[in-house]
Amino acid sequence: MRHVQKKGKPKGKIQLEYIDIRSVLDEIGIDYRESGKNVGTGWIGVCCPFCGNDHGYHLGICLKSPVISCLKCGKIGNILTYFIEELGSFQKAITILGDSVPRELRSFEAEERERAITVELPENAKKEISVYHESYLEGRGYDHKELTEKFNLHFVGPTGGEWRNRIIVPVIKRYKLITFTSVSISDDSNLRYKHLSEEKSVIPIKDYLLGLEFTDGNSCILVEGLFDMMRIGDGAVCGFGVKITSEQKRLLSKFQTVVIAFDGDSAGRTSSENLANDLAPFCDCKIVDLPDGKDPDNLSKGDIKYIRRLIGK
Ligand SMILES: [Zn+2]
Repeated sequence: MRHVQKKGKPKGKIQLEYIDIRSVLDEIGIDYRESGKNVGTGWIGVCCPFCGNDHGYHLGICLKSPVISCLKCGKIGNILTYFIEELGSFQKAITILGDSVPRELRSFEAEERERAITVELPENAKKEISVYHESYLEGRGYDHKELTEKFNLHFVGPTGGEWRNRIIVPVIKRYKLITFTSVSISDDSNLRYKHLSEEKSVIPIKDYLLGLEFTDGNSCILVEGLFDMMRIGDGAVCGFGVKITSEQKRLLSKFQTVVIAFDGDSAGRTSSENLANDLAPFCDCKIVDLPDGKDPDNLSKGDIKYIRRLIGK
């Protein structure tokens, strides 16, 4: 197996020469220092919003390239990351940085569309696994106990209405159930994966990344499917298919490193390439080139190890 390193193209990078950092900071009323304790030459020091309670101007904003670096908490990233954190909004950050942010990134939807509705798992969904669900998971080579516990899986039997004979996978964000998806364990179902509808979800599944809570926040491995994610383990996130929505891209753009491990087919390869170009201004991307017909769920242990090592795991 091999992978391709995709460093951001200069064209797509945030163009620092168009930003007057000092006037941007003045405009939003942020106190900064140009010299003194914790402030290096060629840097501007601000209090670090990532630290929580920094009063010592530990976060450096570089004047030569669009990067930030905190001497206290160790946070590094690009300047947009800083403004998103400081202003609490992607849209505000993009607005303040203006034309220096590449067009494709400006079109990302800004605010999370969290709605005041409550998601409930299907009525017949149980925590107890049946022999059928168990043999489905074991048949795919999984330890059902481990998966059930980790993902809080629920199971619906043959009399469960629209969710019958399915494994229910809750999607949790900050302890809140935002939506769920499911996989059919019977061969006669014409829809193997079925998600809770957009209307009934707090956040639709295509606006989120399953597995996000098991990443370290610095790097992730993006895969197409649920089982690809489960196979790779902590650090893998699933976008459900190769079509990554702008909201999913926004979530990915927060990582320093994104490893894209789509299936070994033409759709997977084309999408990987396009996605890496979209993310290049924000993250380092690595594209894993899977052999034809392979997906992460059917890779050897050695290949999984290879992919995990790309995020330093
Ligand atoms: Zn910090």
